[in-house]
Amino acid sequence: MKLYNTVSRKMEDFTPLSDKGGNNTSIIAQNVKKVNRNGGSGADLTDENRSEVKIYTCGPTVYNYQHIGNYAAYVYWDLLVRTLISNNWRVKRIINLTDVGHLASDADEGEDKLEKGAKREGKTVWEIAKIYSDDFLQNFADLNLVPPVKFARATDYIKENIDLVEKLRAKGYVYETSDGIYYDTSKFARYPDFAKLNLAQMQAGARVDFNPEKRNLSDFAVWKFVREGEDHAMQWEYMGRAGYPGWHIECSSIIHAELGEPIDIHTGGVDHIPVHHTNEIAQSTAAYDSELARFWIHCNFITVNNEKMSKSLRNVYNLHDLKEKGFMPLDFKMWVLQGHYQTLRNFTFEDLGGAKSRRLKWRNRVARCYQGEDISSDDDLIGRIKAALDNNLNSAEALAMIDNTKNISLTEWEKIDQMLGLDLIKSAPDLTKKVAKKIADREQARLEKNFKKSDEIRDALARNGIGILDGVEKTIWQYLE
Ligand code: AMP
Ligand code: ZN
Repeated sequence: MKLYNTVSRKMEDFTPLSDKGGNNTSIIAQNVKKVNRNGGSGADLTDENRSEVKIYTCGPTVYNYQHIGNYAAYVYWDLLVRTLISNNWRVKRIINLTDVGHLASDADEGEDKLEKGAKREGKTVWEIAKIYSDDFLQNFADLNLVPPVKFARATDYIKENIDLVEKLRAKGYVYETSDGIYYDTSKFARYPDFAKLNLAQMQAGARVDFNPEKRNLSDFAVWKFVREGEDHAMQWEYMGRAGYPGWHIECSSIIHAELGEPIDIHTGGVDHIPVHHTNEIAQSTAAYDSELARFWIHCNFITVNNEKMSKSLRNVYNLHDLKEKGFMPLDFKMWVLQGHYQTLRNFTFEDLGGAKSRRLKWRNRVARCYQGEDISSDDDLIGRIKAALDNNLNSAEALAMIDNTKNISLTEWEKIDQMLGLDLIKSAPDLTKKVAKKIADREQARLEKNFKKSDEIRDALARNGIGILDGVEKTIWQYLE
């Protein structure tokens, strides 16, 4: 399998780190079961001898609804997870939920986003975190994304954060200022490498009012103190003062606690490269004397009508907005899979309509398989799809292969569902049984020239989104939406 690794800025062959020792027996079977539920290939997933792939995904800050740009990222990484599974590797993945410490500005300034959300809605920060975590988890399920072994809440790792800060302190990487504990990036020689930063140029172009207590512009807070008069509801005591963790530290300490360095793959958005991921690398490498991740994979942004999504342009859409306009989360997933994670993508409702039609067409192809048209493609379609996905997740090519293949059997559709997670089969077997009875009743009514009854049966089905197609030899059903 090939992936574009931000570390080398090149396409590289991916193999799990655990392949090296050849000993993969330590993998936790119960975690695999969860992956299995949604995406896995069933029986072969319980095979203890397969290599494990450790993945970490920087998750949402749960202070508001996630927008479609955010969800596009989770769809791309779902494709990554499914492709790893189809390579017979076991996926051990953690996604964090940032419920504290993410400040409005990347420069450790501005208000904590959770506190901001709480004020906006007149609720407590804990209520805000719950509302938007729940919404995220519901959407995650609606998009049929393979669940990680754990959604790790930042506030459950405060002790681990402090342990990490202590480690950095003992090794001389951090210093104290009046408002927090900062990482001295000049002590980590590799600091500019990952994002290819030109620190001298950044320093020269810095705002004059940047925090004067910081030794270097790129230094960042690993722990913040609650200032006199500051209204910060989430706080913990450390060094005899009230405070809360910095944003970057949560990812480093969750990875350390849940996965252990080095992990195989770390994912995020391209905007994470210069600050958030650079800082994660600096902290973890300095504290644990280990590489943090072997592969770093970054996805590009989604624009709407060729403009950046922003509140002032009123073009920030979430999945609820799409539903109101008649699009299911899985229609959106199809739209995402039509493009590539490294491409800057432009979203339009017209294209979303195209994706919805494509998904409907495929669901009806599955429905026809259940009604007797179960013919195999005869040309290793599944092998070709896998090869496309193994090639840096080229789902657009895989989708075109499906469109261009006349016959696809049920067994093949099942594999396609495992690889892409579009839930194409879901209701087809049940409906085939239920609707067959209605079709028979309708035939009978027509034989008896009871056209009123025959029309009633057809109309009742249509109200439930099922259409009836009378063919020369037989009548079949299809989804109308
Ligand atoms: P935010 O909640 O705006 O801080 O966004 C969280 C993360 O979502 C960012 O760090 C990005 O990686 C990603 N993101 C934000 N906006 C977009 C977008 N328009 N398209 C894709 N990803 C985005
Ligand atoms: Zn992170």
